[in-house]
Amino acid sequence: MAGLNETHDPQLRCWLASASAGDFTVQNLPFGLFRRAGASEAFRVGVAIGDQILDIAALLAAGAFDGEAAAAARLCSGGSLNGLMAAGSVKQSALRLALSRGLREGSAQQAVFTACLSPQAQAELSLPAHIGDFSDFYASIHHATRVGRLFRPDNPLMPNYKWLPVAYHGRSSSISIGGGSVMRPRGQVKGPEDAVPRMAASQRIDYELELGFYVGAPTRSGDTVPLDQAEDHLFGVCLLNDWSARDIQAWEYQPLGPFLAKNFASTVSPWVVTMEALEPYRAPFGRPADDPALMEHLDSAANRSRGAIDIRMEAWIQTEKMREQGLPAQRLSHSTFAYSYWTVGQMVTHHGSNGCNLIAGDLIGTGTQSGPALSEAGCLLELSEGGKTAIALPSGETRRFVENGDTIIFRGYCERDGYARIGLGECAATIVAAP
Ligand code: CA
Repeated sequence: MAGLNETHDPQLRCWLASASAGDFTVQNLPFGLFRRAGASEAFRVGVAIGDQILDIAALLAAGAFDGEAAAAARLCSGGSLNGLMAAGSVKQSALRLALSRGLREGSAQQAVFTACLSPQAQAELSLPAHIGDFSDFYASIHHATRVGRLFRPDNPLMPNYKWLPVAYHGRSSSISIGGGSVMRPRGQVKGPEDAVPRMAASQRIDYELELGFYVGAPTRSGDTVPLDQAEDHLFGVCLLNDWSARDIQAWEYQPLGPFLAKNFASTVSPWVVTMEALEPYRAPFGRPADDPALMEHLDSAANRSRGAIDIRMEAWIQTEKMREQGLPAQRLSHSTFAYSYWTVGQMVTHHGSNGCNLIAGDLIGTGTQSGPALSEAGCLLELSEGGKTAIALPSGETRRFVENGDTIIFRGYCERDGYARIGLGECAATIVAAP
């Protein structure tokens, strides 16, 4: 684990004025893929800083890097982040340090760096990595309990929940970055009044407020991953909306779990905040004293003292009518990953505990991250209590689930006294009608 270093110093200032506040401060330095909007050129690796993007290949060509930082920058070719992700923390950390030093006020490299900037407003972004596999956990006990109560009133939490981080294998082909639309799926549904199931457009589209962690340094088939080394195999984090069709899910999910209710689309934020950037926002991890003691491989002193991460997460809505009336998006809920019943390290260790190998670029979803209060619920199924309670919007409309034309926007950030603010940017998409 890298620990705090000079790149986290809250006193650092960037010579770029737009980097003094907002999500993309000099302490953040998230990676993504970009090209000039409308151009047919290949996507390139960039780093968000203020309202600009730093072109890593251009910096390398201009001689801005040496040593391990140059080696890391050379891995940023090929139109994806997979090479840099696989490189491991030494090279990744060297590149971050070189970027941090070049962006600081007083840097002798300011002119070289300035020549490698492109405005974010004129850039098109792409999915940052080739995502081979997508595993989605279910790590918030508050979400699992509230949703479990709706599906199984007498038996909300299954007996395995407190023993292992429950997960299922999702689908990577339908993951895309935000900014576009998501088509309402059709599927088999069977309501309480239906004698037999019928094919219909889903009437219960929901979002799920999650984080997605990208795998970095891979593991080999047969390897297990000790908990204190689990995060060595992670590159960084994004926001993840695991869109869900609750009516399709309710009919299809037993006994093997969700399938078509989840795999029609998942939306991720385009910028990947590195594990190193998250270092100041670590938090202790604990569980209630009367819960089962953790098995040895899922417990460690380091995981207890710093296994959690205080990443604040927010879900917002802007309906078509709100857009027409010029009304801004309204926040639906807010939570933090620090509430999670399982840490991301425990998720990785559990994932590898049977010898399953992890590949650079694999995406590990945390599951919907709800807090203990209803206002901290990470999906509409919880907020509307299974569709029973309508949520009032400033346009005079109400919502129980997502309607056509609704844009759902996730935002994420980290803040802590004595440290800089860093943000994950936005993950937004609009639901459009089924064909
Ligand atoms: Ca999910």
